[in-house]
Amino acid sequence: MHTSDAATALATPQAPVRVDGDDDTGRRVIATRDIAPGEVLADLREAHRTPVKSRFTVQIGPDAHIDGLWQFTFLNHSCDPSVHVDTTAMEIRALRAIAAGEELGYFYPSTEWMMAEPFDCHCGTPACIGRVTGAKELPPQVLGRYVVNRHIAEMKASA
Ligand SMILES: [Zn+2]
Repeated sequence: MHTSDAATALATPQAPVRVDGDDDTGRRVIATRDIAPGEVLADLREAHRTPVKSRFTVQIGPDAHIDGLWQFTFLNHSCDPSVHVDTTAMEIRALRAIAAGEELGYFYPSTEWMMAEPFDCHCGTPACIGRVTGAKELPPQVLGRYVVNRHIAEMKASA
C-alpha cells in the first residue's frame, strides 16, 4: 500500500468534480477536467465515522462506516468503475483515464458487504452484475474481477 502524502495537497473541496442532477433525477459526480489514471481525487482520512450504514455511507471495516464525503457522497455505483474508494489508504483515486464531463462511478461491493438499500443496476455494460446487494452475495469469481478492499476480501474469505 502506498502512502496518502499526495492526497494532502489535494483537499477534497478542490477535487476536479461537480455534482449534477437533483433529488428527482438522482445525483451524479461529474469530472470537471480530464483525470489521469491513478490520480488521487479525495483524502478520506478525516471523514466522519459512524457505526450506522445508510445509502450515503461507505463501509471501511466490518462494523465501521464513513459519511459526509463532500461531493463524493453522490458517487454512483458502476459495474465498470472508473474510480476506487480505497479504505486502507483512505483515498479515492482514478482507476483509469476519465474525460472531462464523464460521470464517475465506483463498484459498491468493493466497500459494502451488505448494502443498506439493495437495488437493480441498469448500467447496461457487459460487466453488469444486475442486483447490487453487496459483496456477501456475489460469486467469488465475479468479485475477483474487481479491485476490492481488505475488509471485503477478509470477510469473503471467512464467509
Ligand atoms: Zn451494472
